[in-house]
Amino acid sequence: MIAGIDLGTTHSLVGVMESGFPVLIADAQGRRLTPSAVWFPECGEPVVGWSALEIKATHPTQVVTSVKRLIGRRIGEVVASSSGFALEAGPDGELRVAVGGHSHRPEEISAIILSKLKTDLEKSCGTPVNRAVITVPAYFNDAQRAATKRAGELAGFTVERILSEPTAAALAYGLDRLGERAKVAVYDLGGGTFDVSVLELNCGVFEVLSTNGDTSLGGDDLDVALANAWNLSRFDAEKIKRALTDTECVECDGRTYLRSELEAVCLPIIDRTRRHCLRSLSDAHLETSALDAVVLVGGATRMPVVRKFVAEIFRREPDVSQHPDEAVALGATIQAGILEGGLQNLTLLDVTPLSLGIETFGGLMNVIIPRNTTIPCKAGEMFTNAVSNQSAMNITVLQGEREMARDNWPLGRMDVAFPPAPKGQARVGVQFELDANGILHVLARDTSTGLDTIIDIQSAVEVSDEAVEKMLGDSLEHAFEDMDERIFTEAKLKANEMLPAVDSALEALGDEVPAEIRSAISALVQKIRAALEARSTANLKTLLSELDTITEPLATALLEKTLA
Ligand code: ADP
Ligand code: MG
Repeated sequence: MIAGIDLGTTHSLVGVMESGFPVLIADAQGRRLTPSAVWFPECGEPVVGWSALEIKATHPTQVVTSVKRLIGRRIGEVVASSSGFALEAGPDGELRVAVGGHSHRPEEISAIILSKLKTDLEKSCGTPVNRAVITVPAYFNDAQRAATKRAGELAGFTVERILSEPTAAALAYGLDRLGERAKVAVYDLGGGTFDVSVLELNCGVFEVLSTNGDTSLGGDDLDVALANAWNLSRFDAEKIKRALTDTECVECDGRTYLRSELEAVCLPIIDRTRRHCLRSLSDAHLETSALDAVVLVGGATRMPVVRKFVAEIFRREPDVSQHPDEAVALGATIQAGILEGGLQNLTLLDVTPLSLGIETFGGLMNVIIPRNTTIPCKAGEMFTNAVSNQSAMNITVLQGEREMARDNWPLGRMDVAFPPAPKGQARVGVQFELDANGILHVLARDTSTGLDTIIDIQSAVEVSDEAVEKMLGDSLEHAFEDMDERIFTEAKLKANEMLPAVDSALEALGDEVPAEIRSAISALVQKIRAALEARSTANLKTLLSELDTITEPLATALLEKTLA
């Protein structure tokens, strides 16, 4: 048996296939959602779920919530927690949560939640369940996926698959029934994260065409805004928010709260999802009219204002046939059933949320696997030494959309040694393989010796502060400067190569070069130096091609001289 698990920021759920049907497990009170909250009491074992959430009001420092926002991230990447517990750096700069006098890695806390789900599940089916499919937001990076997998392992599961949430939701809504080449948008607004993806069904196979989102946007933000507007605690604001989903007005402690007031406060926050929706469509090269369905995922999409907003953006009524906060777990369970072999084999294809590549000479980003490539995938390229007698190549693995290496996230580094060789002679093949779990294996091979160097990205994770969302925003915002800097850097590398070569050609040929050509060349060289100094890309490119033309006879003469 394989469990299907939605390890959510706010709530987690677990399910299994029973006689060919996906079934979500309820606790003793009949509740299928388990709050992703862990209480560390002064003595005794940690407590997970509803009781932990209740204690939070009175003992905020003992209860950890929203740990999903921290998993797989480093200190400095997350703003100090506003939830009562403290964050600190572990011995290796790794992020830890200080609670109840101890410090825990985020994945250890997620593992406690997963253990609780495992226990509930085993109680319900009366047998041990040691395998699981666990979902993550589509744009979780490698570090976050790997940490989620470790959390599953710490809880005693063999993690059979890390599955993207929109892909799971597509399964739950039975989008395969829509027919060949059907295209669907999945809009997921949960407690702490937002994402939107466009999927296409091809020959019974789901393919994620694009995915966009914001790691720090969700129902929590609505609670904070409402609490401020109404001068209430976040707890009470959340309760009233939920109540206003079902009615137009709510009485509480002698005050009346109107849905219209809630909508005025929430709409500007909900509106922040607009650009992600539009971007997702444009990444998938689709107009709204090309969509066959729009489905809702996440508890916050129960709100009428969110449903209206989604209908307006996508110009069609969303499908509300599933419970939005259970769809992901249901899909994870269906995927578990597929892996068990009991269900028709729908293959799920996912995409890379950001480009993966390595840093090359001059500090440029060299993309090996572009953003939105279907995974699993494999791609490689051949590199050479930029300097003579170099005996090792330092490879920095990067993730991101920016042209310059320094603006992307370093995921890991490796040194590949090779026998010293003249410039341009060494050959190192670099291969990237993204497995079905979205985990990256990097292999570098020195082709002369056949020796392979493989890095374990998971332990070399060094993701910087930027969130994926910000990365995409920045890449748009800086598109022109970035491109200019790339073209300039490429031109500069070319100049650095040509100028010394021209010098030595002039020296070698001596009087054979006519005086007027010699002075024309030195005038050009001066202009090139000036353009380099002034960082004038356009000039530099023109001048270099002039230099190319004017020195061509020199190159020929030099060659003849050598052959003579
Ligand atoms: P996650 O995927 O982050 O765990 P969920 O899908 O469980 O999140 O959604 C949790 C969010 O949904 C919370 O912000 C919660 O307040 C909100 N939510 C749940 N039910 C309702 C409702 N009926 N009306 C409005 N918001 C709701
Ligand atoms: Mg969710």
